[in-house]
Amino acid sequence: MSKPRRLPSTAIPDHYAERFQTLKQQFQQLEYFCKGTLLKRMMKCGKVQCACRHDPAKRHGPYFEWTYKAKGKTVNVKLTRNVMPLFRAASHQYRKLRSLLNRLETLSQTVLRHQTKLAQSADRD
Ligand SMILES: [Zn+2]
Repeated sequence: MSKPRRLPSTAIPDHYAERFQTLKQQFQQLEYFCKGTLLKRMMKCGKVQCACRHDPAKRHGPYFEWTYKAKGKTVNVKLTRNVMPLFRAASHQYRKLRSLLNRLETLSQTVLRHQTKLAQSADRD
């Protein structure tokens, strides 16, 4: 982020508003998204005579899982290999969404601070 310190204190600079509009428009390009973690794990089956019991290389799988928190609880969804690209893409979209939100938030804070300063100095006049 650029430092807003050197800006004239008479008005909210236009480039803030423009930047805000540009960021908002990026929401239009957003695709389906999912938060949480995608896991790929190898499992033991629990059968006493199975090789997976002692040899990590002979575990079964891979098994895919999507884990996320909802209302304080962890939710696990089993996935098949063929849907993994879909979920990786959705996960990427979620990071994009978060980054976009963060940038909008930072920008909002900057503008609000600026407006506060203006309003308060106007009050003192
Ligand atoms: Zn086994």
